[in-house]
Amino acid sequence: MATTSKPIIVVGAGLAGSLLGVYLARRGFQVDVYERRPDMRKTRISAGRSINLALSTRGIHALKEVGLYDDIMKISIPMKGRMVHHLDGTLHSQPYGKNESEVINAVSRGELNMRLMDLAEAQGGIHFHFNQRCIGMGFDEGLVYLKDETTAHTYTVTGETVIGTDGSASAIRADMQKVGRFNYSQQFLEHGYKELLIPPAPRGEFQIEKNALHIWPRKTYMLIALPNLDGSFTCTLFYPYSGENSFESLDREDKVSSFFQEQFPDVLPLMPRLTEEFFANPTGSLVTIKCDPWHVDDKALLLGDAAHAIVPFYGQGMNCAFEDCTVLNGCIEQHGRDWENVFRSFERLRKANADAIADLAVENFYEMRDLVTDPRFILKKEIEHVLEEKFPDRFVPKYSMVTFHRVPYSVAMKRGKIQEEILDELAANTERADRIDLEQASHLIQLKLVDAFSEVMPS
Ligand code: FAD
Repeated sequence: MATTSKPIIVVGAGLAGSLLGVYLARRGFQVDVYERRPDMRKTRISAGRSINLALSTRGIHALKEVGLYDDIMKISIPMKGRMVHHLDGTLHSQPYGKNESEVINAVSRGELNMRLMDLAEAQGGIHFHFNQRCIGMGFDEGLVYLKDETTAHTYTVTGETVIGTDGSASAIRADMQKVGRFNYSQQFLEHGYKELLIPPAPRGEFQIEKNALHIWPRKTYMLIALPNLDGSFTCTLFYPYSGENSFESLDREDKVSSFFQEQFPDVLPLMPRLTEEFFANPTGSLVTIKCDPWHVDDKALLLGDAAHAIVPFYGQGMNCAFEDCTVLNGCIEQHGRDWENVFRSFERLRKANADAIADLAVENFYEMRDLVTDPRFILKKEIEHVLEEKFPDRFVPKYSMVTFHRVPYSVAMKRGKIQEEILDELAANTERADRIDLEQASHLIQLKLVDAFSEVMPS
């Protein structure tokens, strides 16, 4: 695609903004990316939140498209399933997929972000401007208001169009709210989160199983841990923000130690700096944001968390933001520089799916913190894998549709609901997954999923 004299302005050089920069620069656009933080490749800045993330099929697809997949796989750790830590110290492993090719991958947020920026710059035509905070946007003239964080100087820029990838507290979105008929909702979970560390053993070994996502489910809250390349694990405690048993009530070192002693006794000896980290690290909040429209005429579009922030329990926020970039790239392929049509088609393709993954992510919180220890839930998970093996072209577990396929999230959600009914019926008649009535299963799948449900099968 031909270049133009005016650049496309991208606000925010996080995961979505940097990947989008690669896609746009590869199309020959001039791109200016404004990022409020310093360049993380030069200044050590804390990742701030979620030091590592689970990368799965949708994100991988985008990385393959831009040629970064092999590089990122070298710095990722495959996690084959959930390792559930019961209170009595017993462990129970639950595979995520049908075989070892279906894994999710722990990857460092910072490394991934830096490599995306390097790749974007390698395309040419793209400039990252760091320490430049967007403080708003005037849509009539397409003016982006910026503040240089190092000098406090404020100024404006204009471009061919503007894409806001400035995350869940988007400044571009805040000004879209002032334009008429903008729908907006934000829903905070009563839980917050805090990151803690299990360091490597003295010789750099992993202290717990490396290739798993560890969960300590405790009914109304949970601790999880994802592996890092240096042998450590980043743990995240999801716990109520305030109230009797909450982050607020854990206000002294002895309270934190006894809470961990009581609830996570196997992990306590692995965290020598627990109390220090507990009070040093911030408590983050967890929010779902839905809004629409995501664009103002041909002037500006929201993408990634700026358009649809979701809670992290399906491990899909980044994957969804990366899929946004893939889809937007397809819309540009189709409509060229007719930005209004590009943005309209993008929104038509993505909005229902973003809403679906937002709802699925909240649902998955209950599954992770509570249901994973429930024998009936475990039986249903096992039945799912049997059905997938016996009827591979007709039945794919909901988790797999979301994580290992690129079937639209909204279809995964609808099919998932129907599949839940099938699983309930089958689980009612057996105590072992390998003893389900296959004829009944085939009949139910035909009736409920094939005859009555015409939407696309997973691909
Ligand atoms: P962000 O990553 O938030 O990037 C926004 C960028 O914009 C940042 O660089 C920011 O500095 C910049 N910015 C913000 N405001 C301005 C401004 N006014 N001006 C200029 N720049 C600005 N997703 C997964 O797929 N898998 C996971 O396992 C996973 N785990 C998670 C765990 C936790 C605890 C959390 C909180 C999230 C997790 N996510 C996960 C979600 C994922 O982090 C987000 O969906 C993803 O970061 C979205 O990317 P983004 O680029 O849209 O936003």
